[in-house]
Amino acid sequence: MVRNRVQCIIPPYVLEAIEANGTPEQRARAAATLRIDAVVRADRAEAPTAPPQPAADVTAHRRIYDAGNTTNLPGTLVRDEGDPDSADVCVNEVYDGFGTTLDLYGQVYSRNSVDDAGLDLIGTVHYATDFNNAMWDGEQAIFGDGDGSIFNRFTIAIDVIGHELTHAVTQYTAGLAYRNQSGALNESISDVFGSLVKQYHASPRQTADEADWLIGAGLWAPRIHGAALRSMKAPGTAYEDPLVGKDPQPATMDGYVTTRQDNGGVHLNSGIPNHAFYLAAVSFGGYAWEKAGRVWYDALTDPSLSSNAGFLEFAQLTVQKAEALFGADGRQRIHDAWAQVSITT
Ligand SMILES: [Zn+2]
Repeated sequence: MVRNRVQCIIPPYVLEAIEANGTPEQRARAAATLRIDAVVRADRAEAPTAPPQPAADVTAHRRIYDAGNTTNLPGTLVRDEGDPDSADVCVNEVYDGFGTTLDLYGQVYSRNSVDDAGLDLIGTVHYATDFNNAMWDGEQAIFGDGDGSIFNRFTIAIDVIGHELTHAVTQYTAGLAYRNQSGALNESISDVFGSLVKQYHASPRQTADEADWLIGAGLWAPRIHGAALRSMKAPGTAYEDPLVGKDPQPATMDGYVTTRQDNGGVHLNSGIPNHAFYLAAVSFGGYAWEKAGRVWYDALTDPSLSSNAGFLEFAQLTVQKAEALFGADGRQRIHDAWAQVSITT
């Protein structure tokens, strides 16, 4: 079992921009969010690394807790599997988002919960006060309320919920180390399947051409000039605002960012494999989870994928999987998608 860091949806560079540009109140909240991220990281670094054991009945139950604006985890149980709707929209959004994520993995990829052994899913809402983040801490998903001035509640975007649970899938499969290229792949895979959860959940379901390929649409409060946190279709264009800065994601290796910040740019360079997936999905056409998603899922869950895999190792594995699944035509489409982001398989 690979020891995992806490994995947050909002990267430190966004919070640091708010610290530099915000009002005193906004600065204080950004600083508090960065501090709490660090505290949770430290807690988990000392925690035992053994994963929670699968439930005996091997059917995943969803359990949603309320932290009551404290940092106590998991908090008070407020909705167990099968319970009726809560009066609290955040509770229902997480419960339903967990449900769609279980359905996508179960119905499309025959995966029984995130660990493929029926692991119960734990989510905590109303974590801390005005907390501007959502995260997977190695054992459960955690959602802040947002401060209302820069961020809305973090349960508002179902792709963010799918993103956090996909960190768990990666934890139980490839265990991609959360730094540099393997970390950017880890982030990208969470965006890929988070976006597929959103497309699968839409009514009617969306094809690759119909999807917006945005991650976290609705998360920015109205005053912030931005459509979402990230764009898989056009990395680097999701937001631009004096308070939070400009989306810094590259779309191809030509813009690859070498940095020590953000665990070596895990939320930056993820734009490159994100864009390759988008290109592959559009090339195949139809529902993205059926072909491109299947190729990515088979690569992620192949025991030969190393925990320190770089972009090229993963890309080469997707080409192999595409050929096995869809023959020479599939192989060519995946090869071409990676070539367009300047990765030659
Ligand atoms: Zn993440």
